[in-house]
Amino acid sequence: MTHTTHWIDGRPWGGAGERRGEVFDPATGQVTGRVDLASPAEVDEAVAAAASAFHVWRDVSLTRRTQVMFAFRELLNARKEELAAIITAEHGKVLADALGEVTRGLEVVEFACGIPHLIKGGFSENVSTRVDSYSIRQPLGVVAVISPFNFPAMVPMWFLPVAIAAGNTVVLKPSEKTPGAADFMAALWSEAGLPDGVLNVVHGDKVAVDRLLDHPDVEAVSFVGSTPIAKYVYERGTRAGKRVQALGGAKNHMVVLPDADLDLAADAAINAGFGSAGERCMAISALVVVEPAAGALIAKIVERMARLRIGDGRHGCDMGPLVTLAHRDRVASYLDAGVAAGAELVVDGREQGIDGDERGFWLGPTLFDGVTAEMPLYTDEIFGPVLSVLRVPTYEAALDLVNGNPYGNGTAIFTRDGGAARRFQHEVQVGMVGINVPIPVPMAYYSFGGWKQSLFGDSHAHGTEGVHFFTRGKVVTSRWPDPSHGGINLGFPTQD
Ligand code: NAD
Repeated sequence: MTHTTHWIDGRPWGGAGERRGEVFDPATGQVTGRVDLASPAEVDEAVAAAASAFHVWRDVSLTRRTQVMFAFRELLNARKEELAAIITAEHGKVLADALGEVTRGLEVVEFACGIPHLIKGGFSENVSTRVDSYSIRQPLGVVAVISPFNFPAMVPMWFLPVAIAAGNTVVLKPSEKTPGAADFMAALWSEAGLPDGVLNVVHGDKVAVDRLLDHPDVEAVSFVGSTPIAKYVYERGTRAGKRVQALGGAKNHMVVLPDADLDLAADAAINAGFGSAGERCMAISALVVVEPAAGALIAKIVERMARLRIGDGRHGCDMGPLVTLAHRDRVASYLDAGVAAGAELVVDGREQGIDGDERGFWLGPTLFDGVTAEMPLYTDEIFGPVLSVLRVPTYEAALDLVNGNPYGNGTAIFTRDGGAARRFQHEVQVGMVGINVPIPVPMAYYSFGGWKQSLFGDSHAHGTEGVHFFTRGKVVTSRWPDPSHGGINLGFPTQD
């Protein structure tokens, strides 16, 4: 049995919490640990540690801050297999996938190693006679990061390296379903030389989140999770005067034109639909096929699905279990609901053989054909291994579907026609677009984020938008005493 507790002021919390949650191994269905669920007073303790560390950290030189980033990068890289094992044990995703998310997190650390260049300001000499002007970017103070269950390492890493390198101090509130990765990373930051209190972790649920949203010493909130909670966090946080970026849920479309390489498209649909058991915000769940390609594409997908091995993520399978029993049951309920709504169940994931403990939270990959825009299979974010084919007559009909959907996180088009691809990238109302790439997650030096109901706020994660989110601009206009007296002039300052 593991016991995951808060990490406050550079060490594991020594207190005795009143509430605890259970942590499961989804591949065995067994409780493997407990996690402390913070009270408002425990959140206050973490914020106080961060507030006090801010006064020191904001004045640490850029050179020293960068050295800490490089040291953390080396430690994380050296121990990434251990972190991946923690993720697989609590989340269920296969080890290679867990390692992949750590790698994507590492890329943001590497990006943040360049912080001296990223927060450089501008300088203008002689904006008025013997007057100079320059801009600087400064950290905000204490910032909160609230993350979802599905990327216990990568999503916190979208924010922590940039926030910390820019001189902020952080309170991270990970998902209570997958809490272990956060403490592992916090200990590595300490080992890398990060001063106590710069990064704190509080575990918990709505109680902890609400306290962070209301706390007067928290300046900004970066949230990632489902759309209803993202909206709630955005509204409550901004009402309290904070800067908030809240990334929400998704319904990602993969559009396949009749001229596409259908083998490439079939591979992509499998990988993006069933990787991580569909529990990715960039997972493909709506396969929009322009006729007459659907029949041939579905045949290729079905043939590939038969070869997938579902089982314990530690044992070299292709796909693991879902995160909790309740979530598995919720996802499975869409199978009967889909049939009742008139869709054709082509592959039933409940009939899939499992290479693992029968008590695990299993549901095999599922494929529906004949799905329409009114069905719950299409309107809801299912967040499981369920792929729905929607057949459409034209490119325009496909585009209307994507643009009519309330979410706008990721999308992809598969075609050999460069003109069609270019038209799609121009016309589609989605934040991240793939062209023959099913999961177009931007590299760390670009910014990650969706449009519409997939993002509340106007800043995406990492890249220059991330640097901007975690800093405030200041412009200085300076004159040194030559002449020693500027003269009296009550008029509005203008250049001369
Ligand atoms: P969730 O919204 O249930 O939880 C996210 C965080 O909010 C967790 O830390 C949780 O403890 C907290 N929380 C939950 N309920 C709350 C409440 N009522 N009040 C305050 N805080 C609350 O999301 P999840 O199930 O952990 O993650 C899956 C969701 O996250 C999916 O919708 C997925 O699309 C989305 N997601 C989006 C992105 C993105 O970049 N847009 C990335 C990853 C996941």
